Amino acid sequence: MWKEMSEKTKKCMEDTIIKGDFDKIPIALAIDDPAPVVHVMYEHAYKNKTKDGRLYTEVVPNEFLQEFCKVIEAQGIKGKFSIVPMPLGKGDIVNGIPGVDYAQIEEWLEMCRERVGKQFSFGPEMLTHGRAYNLEDGTLYDMIERDWASTQCYDTLRPYVAKALELLKEKNIDVTGVTSPWDFGIEVEDEYLAALSQAMYDVFEKKDCWVFLRELRHTPGCNRPFVAYREEGRNVVMVPTTTRDHFWWTMDTTDTSKEYISSVADGLITADGKEGELIDVINGGGFPVIITHWQSLFSNGLGTGLAALEEVAKRVNKHLGDRVQWMSHDELMKLTIERMQG
Ligand SMILES: [Zn+2]
Repeated sequence: MWKEMSEKTKKCMEDTIIKGDFDKIPIALAIDDPAPVVHVMYEHAYKNKTKDGRLYTEVVPNEFLQEFCKVIEAQGIKGKFSIVPMPLGKGDIVNGIPGVDYAQIEEWLEMCRERVGKQFSFGPEMLTHGRAYNLEDGTLYDMIERDWASTQCYDTLRPYVAKALELLKEKNIDVTGVTSPWDFGIEVEDEYLAALSQAMYDVFEKKDCWVFLRELRHTPGCNRPFVAYREEGRNVVMVPTTTRDHFWWTMDTTDTSKEYISSVADGLITADGKEGELIDVINGGGFPVIITHWQSLFSNGLGTGLAALEEVAKRVNKHLGDRVQWMSHDELMKLTIERMQG
């Protein structure tokens, strides 16, 4: 669903979008929906089965994060990694999740801090990525966060985002930005951006942050990061993703063959490095920011998506190694602000 940018954001984009040529074009991977233990997909789409009829697992074991770390370290992949701090409203990363051994949550967060954080920027994907949380009485509303946010304003969004930031801060996760679950806040974009900038300053004392809210594919002229909000010496840099999630459909099949994995990777970059969405984005003057989801890589326990990601990264490094450079969202944010300031 496409929703136009607000007039204010559009104006900001025209003024601040990164311009010019690069010796090496930034490339990044945006991963939505990770959470310790809880498989957010379990309740995500109001269905609990894959297209071919298997139940989604309720849990993503910590071993999967370990496997992910091996891949990103071997291939040098960078980008952003969401952490849903109160996954599906079942509990939270500070006070625990009923039915989950807290040591598992600690172990997951430790791996994030020690390994993922060396290459990826962290940010909450608001509180639950499920039903919205009532800050006043600690219950869950009957609507999901994106629907709740659509009618909110600065005064209600600021404490909501701040609560997500505080939970991560409490666990020593260094946060540099925020991801919207679904397109949380898009209807009230100006108020949302102001609220998250203030929340980031209040909780982390950071004047600059990045936000992931929009996918801008096939939109030449706006397929690079830009400063979407500038007030009182603070900046919010919008980092749009510029591809589809080619790994998503690996959830719906038990095919883990080499051929299948190669065909998934082909959507982004073919084995000869000549075709695919990444090549199209680069040829169109954009920055390739690949979107995927934790569940897309986990593939309901089979890890097919992660294998395809590894294949994509190998192809990128082999064929585009002298044309692109992996960057975290924090690095993209700093680059955008530097360029704006000339
Ligand atoms: Zn999400």
